Amino acid sequence: MKKIYLDYAATTPVDKKVLEAMLPYFSENFGNAMSVHGFGQEALEAIDEARAKAALFFKCSPSEIIFTSGATESNNLVVKGILRSHNSIARKAEEKPHIITTAFEHHCVLDACKFAKKDGLAEVTFITPNKEGLISVKDIKAAIQPNTILISVMYVNNEIGTVQPIAEIGKLLKKINIERATEKLPKISFHTDATQAINYFNCDVDEIGVDLLSMSAHKIYGPKGVGLLYVRKATAIKRIQDGGDQEYKMRAGTHNVPGIIGLGAAINAIKTPATLKYIKEITQLRDYLIKRVLKEIPKSYLNGSAEKRSPNNANFRFDDVEGEGLILSLDLDGIAASTGSACSSGALDPSHVLLSLGLRHEQAHGSLRLTLGKHTTKQELDIVIVKIKEVVKRLRKISGNVLADFK
Ligand code: PMP
Repeated sequence: MKKIYLDYAATTPVDKKVLEAMLPYFSENFGNAMSVHGFGQEALEAIDEARAKAALFFKCSPSEIIFTSGATESNNLVVKGILRSHNSIARKAEEKPHIITTAFEHHCVLDACKFAKKDGLAEVTFITPNKEGLISVKDIKAAIQPNTILISVMYVNNEIGTVQPIAEIGKLLKKINIERATEKLPKISFHTDATQAINYFNCDVDEIGVDLLSMSAHKIYGPKGVGLLYVRKATAIKRIQDGGDQEYKMRAGTHNVPGIIGLGAAINAIKTPATLKYIKEITQLRDYLIKRVLKEIPKSYLNGSAEKRSPNNANFRFDDVEGEGLILSLDLDGIAASTGSACSSGALDPSHVLLSLGLRHEQAHGSLRLTLGKHTTKQELDIVIVKIKEVVKRLRKISGNVLADFK
């Protein structure tokens, strides 16, 4: 049975060229980048090259790139590091800092904020998206308080693929921060979790106006266990992990040299003229899939805005069908799909993302996320559409809900 992979938002295969670039750093060039001898210096040079590639991609200075173990770590570093920095400045206990984030962030941002609130370290406002899965700039503006120090809004939602108005928020904050400086109020740092955006959207940090940006190599055809955090110069943030002086003293721990080399090669590969052509092609494939599913399966719906959505994401909901049953059945046919984020699979709680759109529990359980990638073909989608139709029909029959005829 030929397997079909439609879970590129969970992870991507490592590109062959990326793997080739990494391989020497496992064996012959195995030095620790902090060692002063030749082996170490060779590793350090390679890391600096990867850092330069990342800086070119984000249009920032290499010293603003901090390599981490992935987006989970980068996001934790943002929330906890900003609070740590704030709390290290002598402030009265009653001046609790305030964070604004959204109700449908990845759990690494959401839970870091929830714990900060629970532990009494910060006030937090969770902005809910509209039913299309979009955050309003007006809502963000209205939530700002004199003690706000951080706003964290994801660029592209990992479950429903909706694209948030990051550049607009960036523009607004630039203006607000100028006013706040004259009023002697703390600067508001702006962070975006761009993990699902790197392949498709503008990540020029000045153009989108962010101070902090997180990403992960395994979503861009690079290796797992490595990512980075862009930190704009002069941002008030402290490290959260104590130990060595790596990464401008912002992230202690021996460098994952092959991983970092892989991240550099993977991010460099996005900056090619072929990328624009690829984005057009994958958007067409996504639209073909969405159109056919909605037309041919009764009582099927698209979760999240059809327009402001990542070129590779299709997230459906089917009345009277459990998403988990659907995914298990598709897996038996060799089709890899997901109900939402890979991190929450196994848990039968309904998706917090779908609930935040105002869906009922049973609706939030019936979703299917198909995410396309570089190797997806129209032929694969044709097979998958037929299979989804079969499985939905069968599951509805079992649950006693035979709906209108399938087209
Ligand atoms: N943020 C988003 C939006 C993600 O999609 C993911 C991965 N599912 C993460 C953070 C966590 O990234 P990592 O796997 O690198 O820890």
